[in-house]
Amino acid sequence: MSYKIIVLAKQVPDTRNVGKDAMKADGTVNRAALPAIFNPEDLNALEQALRLKDLYPGTTVTLLTMGPGRAAEIIREGLYRGADGGYLLTDRAFAGADTLATSYALSMAIRKIKEYDLILCGRQAIDGDTAQVGPQVAEKLGLSQVTYAEEIRGINKERITVKRRLERGIEIVEAALPAVVTVNGSAAPCRPRHAKQVQKYKHAKTVTEKQDADTDYTQLFHNRPYLDLQEWSVADVGADVVQCGLSGSPTKVKKIENVVFQAKENKALKPTDEAIDELMRELIHNHTI
Ligand SMILES: Cc1cc2nc3c(=O)[nH]c(=O)nc-3n(C[C@H](O)[C@H](O)[C@H](O)COP(=O)(O)OP(=O)(O)OC[C@H]3O[C@@H](n4cnc5c(N)ncnc54)[C@H](O)[C@@H]3O)c2cc1C
Repeated sequence: MSYKIIVLAKQVPDTRNVGKDAMKADGTVNRAALPAIFNPEDLNALEQALRLKDLYPGTTVTLLTMGPGRAAEIIREGLYRGADGGYLLTDRAFAGADTLATSYALSMAIRKIKEYDLILCGRQAIDGDTAQVGPQVAEKLGLSQVTYAEEIRGINKERITVKRRLERGIEIVEAALPAVVTVNGSAAPCRPRHAKQVQKYKHAKTVTEKQDADTDYTQLFHNRPYLDLQEWSVADVGADVVQCGLSGSPTKVKKIENVVFQAKENKALKPTDEAIDELMRELIHNHTI
């Protein structure tokens, strides 16, 4: 028994290093100004996929990421850790997408991939922090969804059994396949890069990256077609451009404020309701909460 698994993975700005030029005037993220990383919980999702691949020979793990050209790095990172391939969904028309437009574009790409048993993604991205995309993709594709997964306990061609980590403890649930499962950061950490995989895929590139490169890769890619990273545009996935990017996004990020707590801001509180009320009013007033 083998499975076709898609892992949704996002390249996110390393929000631990947010500087003053992090946001553009139109409220969208200035991704060029921030170091980009593999969204942490997407690495947990990738690990769950790779564990199923270890258990069920013939299982394939395919990454899908939507982002600017440099997001191809996410696919290479996944290949270095054991994935089999990936698609980069990239087009200027996808820029500025909110979760509705993002999940629409991803669902169109998944329709184009067509064959899959399971879609794994992170519970949440560390930049938008909405945890909406996973459930929205499931909705758009009419699939079952299980969120807050900590471990995949069992799978067969019809059903998947998942251990969920919730605030109030754990839950073991079953869902019909194909399904979308969002994975928590409390799940097992992702295995590191595998030296052989790095050797095999270090030259993997998208068409755009090859065009931008000084080196002529024609022969190398002819001999090793697996180095070809697929790049898909709005047209390639048959998406309606009006539902993509800023035009497809009812949510507009108005402003981002970098809240950095200074030592001088802590103060002792009397253990009274009035004092707590006073503090709450103050925190709301200065937009801390
Ligand atoms: C500070 C900030 C606040 C924002 N607030 C909102 C908001 O309130 N509402 C809103 O609609 N948009 C918001 N956005 C825009 C939002 O970040 C983008 O729409 C984003 O593409 C998806 O939302 P998210 O980052 O919250 O992802 P989440 O919904 O938290 O992501 C969950 C999972 O979905 C998958 N996923 C998400 N994006 C991608 C991708 N591009 N490629 C592949 N997989 C992906 C990943 O597996 C990820 O772990 C905000 C952006 C920023 C920077």
